[in-house]
Amino acid sequence: MSTVKTETQNKTKIFKMSTKILKDEPLKPYESSSIIKHEKLFEKKLDTNHNEKSIAQMQYKMQIVWFNAIGFLIFHLAGLYGIFLLFTNAKLLTGFWTIALGYISALATTMGAHRLYTHRTFKANKWIRGTLVLFQTVAGQNCLWVWIRDHRQHHKYSDTDADPHNSSRGFFFSHIGWLMVKKHPDVIKKGKMIDMSDIDRDPIVMFQKKYYKRLFIIFSIILPVIIPCYLWNETLFNSFFLSFVGRLVISLNFTWLVNSAAHIYGTRPFSKDIAPAENWFVSFMGLGEGWHNYHHTFPWDYRAAEFGQYFNVTTTVIDFCARRGWVYDIKSASPELVQKYATKKGDGSHPVYGKLNPEDLWVHDY
Ligand SMILES: [Zn+2]
Ligand SMILES: [Zn+2]
Repeated sequence: MSTVKTETQNKTKIFKMSTKILKDEPLKPYESSSIIKHEKLFEKKLDTNHNEKSIAQMQYKMQIVWFNAIGFLIFHLAGLYGIFLLFTNAKLLTGFWTIALGYISALATTMGAHRLYTHRTFKANKWIRGTLVLFQTVAGQNCLWVWIRDHRQHHKYSDTDADPHNSSRGFFFSHIGWLMVKKHPDVIKKGKMIDMSDIDRDPIVMFQKKYYKRLFIIFSIILPVIIPCYLWNETLFNSFFLSFVGRLVISLNFTWLVNSAAHIYGTRPFSKDIAPAENWFVSFMGLGEGWHNYHHTFPWDYRAAEFGQYFNVTTTVIDFCARRGWVYDIKSASPELVQKYATKKGDGSHPVYGKLNPEDLWVHDY
């Protein structure tokens, strides 16, 4: 009995020791001072070419890339057909397989691509990193390197011309439209300035980048389609439309909701001056990524939400791994820091701090 107790105590101790509650915002590891200096110089140079830039902006008109637009349309129609097959022709096991694979690969994207690699909110051992990279490949959302670069850029230039999926251009553009048009010149220019030095040093991510096309074909198309055919005699036709196309159409749209719906609909209890909002529906569908006002206010917090346990499967899984020591050095914001933001910068919708008068609080020294 006592051994079990000591073991549990030790595990709790490890979990507590590896968790950092931060009272101030940390400098992001990929934003070293030299990089910031370099970017400022670059921006100055851009300002001196102000006229040139204004002309470029005036001349910018969204140019549709028809190959992508028609491709996405066909892909979505095929995905809908896959979902139709799920209810009519396909085997029940293929349905479970599709949902399970979609769920695990989505989790690898939220936990791996997003919270681990893009924001560095925690560290993970090589087995966890390898697993996350493998299932992120299954998700079919481009290679990690590009995903991380785009997402860092999205945070740095949120809802401006330099944001790849700028939500000020509307729901459709931020959801899928941005993948069907030529990039805005600012997206290209500023994308080159995003610091990716930490990712360039990561051998697993760089291996995936180098062989992405081959890995994608094997792990996102061939294996998901062939396994149901071999294990429970599903037809190749059903398996292709459901386990590959249908799965990707559903999981991609849930992911895109974070860029579209969670930047438009919801409350802003932590920073009222930014577009990202708290959206429970997106959080439910997006494994915890819809608490977006909090996330854009504290992007270095591993929970991506003030309360990690509500509609936040990703946080639950990170906590599970942390208790076993598989992930460590977890960062999260202290309640005091959250309170400061909610009372001073929020729109007053916070369930506790929103109702308080900032003048009556002891926290007004920042
Ligand atoms: Zn966002
Ligand atoms: Zn983010």
